[in-house]
Amino acid sequence: MKAEIISIGTEITTGSILNTNTKYLSTKLLENGIEVSYHTSVEDNADMIKEVFKIALKRVDLIITTGGLGPTDDDLTKEIIAETLGLKLIKDKEMEDNIKNMFNSLNRPMPTNNKKQALVPEGGRFIANEIGTAPGVYISKDNKKIIMLPGPPKEMKIMFEKYVRPIIMQDFFIITKSINTIGIGESALEMEIKDIILNEKDITIATYAKEGEVEVKIIAKGQSKDFIEERLNKVIEKVENKVGTYIYGFDNTTIEETVFKLLKEKGYKVGFCESCTGGLISSRFIRIPGASEVLDRTIVTYSNKSKIEELGVKKETLEQYGAVSKETALEMAEGLLKKGDLDLVLSTTGIAGPAGGSEEKPVGLVYIGIATKTKNKVLKCNFNGDRESIQNRTTTRSFAEIRN
Ligand code: ATP
Ligand code: MG
Repeated sequence: MKAEIISIGTEITTGSILNTNTKYLSTKLLENGIEVSYHTSVEDNADMIKEVFKIALKRVDLIITTGGLGPTDDDLTKEIIAETLGLKLIKDKEMEDNIKNMFNSLNRPMPTNNKKQALVPEGGRFIANEIGTAPGVYISKDNKKIIMLPGPPKEMKIMFEKYVRPIIMQDFFIITKSINTIGIGESALEMEIKDIILNEKDITIATYAKEGEVEVKIIAKGQSKDFIEERLNKVIEKVENKVGTYIYGFDNTTIEETVFKLLKEKGYKVGFCESCTGGLISSRFIRIPGASEVLDRTIVTYSNKSKIEELGVKKETLEQYGAVSKETALEMAEGLLKKGDLDLVLSTTGIAGPAGGSEEKPVGLVYIGIATKTKNKVLKCNFNGDRESIQNRTTTRSFAEIRN
């Protein structure tokens, strides 16, 4: 959508006041994705106003005028525009009463001049002016939007924010999309997609770090839904080409949902044996409706004794390597896999803190083990943050590991 701003008033063309309205409106329109292509200033002269308005009608879709809506004889904007568009001026009873009431409350008689302020072009409607007498006018005709606002900047700004913005944003589409990633830090991700961010003018791309994840948020806006959808999809494709391996889903999809679908498709029965996460992995997983189709059991084995009794972890392994070790994580997962005759088991063992860390095994050290019928693996992680954060990050990373 292209726009033109017409500033009406001899004070402007003579230079006795600075045209700040145009600056304000142009900035605001651009913020809302509307490009202002023309600024026109014209004196309070009927023929000249008519001439510039006719030109504007030919070249833009949105015309905003300021000034010339007052009660005096040199205020001509509404009259000229109605005439040019071939529209009659009709008295609006409600507006006449409003203006009367305003003068009553000021204890002043209403000058007959003010009566003309209650006239509105046929098919148009008033835009309320809550701090002045001159209301604005909105007309939509032949796919053109025409908005007339009073000249005083204070009045114009309030009316723009409150009433004009919703009018012009009516047929404006905004589509947002989130790309969810795990396994890459925010700054590394930003570096990867920097070129895409810089090259897209009407599309905003930003990264947000969450616990163990980074979200890429894309906001696209424009006049045609199909057009912006197409552009948005192109940007998503570009992002996928750069960092596709870290992407697990879009919008509100969680990592556990992605993993659930994957395991369900494979027909897997899975189990979790959790030490440092204490059931958090299971708790997040069972929020998914239908989780029972995939999840067979969860065992929380917090003590060494329980790791031995429930999972068959060897006493010697615990003595030699400790509970927080690659070896223990593996034996935990293998133990439950056998015991439950499962297709996949994930185990966690780590130091969530704040105490209990050592130089060799600091707080945040976590091992995530995965055992399947064909292969086993262990991931060693060093997470930052407090106890809760380490547990959350372990959980998120665990799901990501199942997906890999
Ligand atoms: P009023 O009922 O106050 O006469 P109006 O809609 O007729 O309102 P104008 O007469 O054009 O508006 O302008 C009123 C005052 O508003 C001007 O004297 C000036 O101080 C200010 N003004 C008008 N246009 C602008 C502009 N483009 N930029 C900044 N100030 C403006
Ligand atoms: Mg005036």
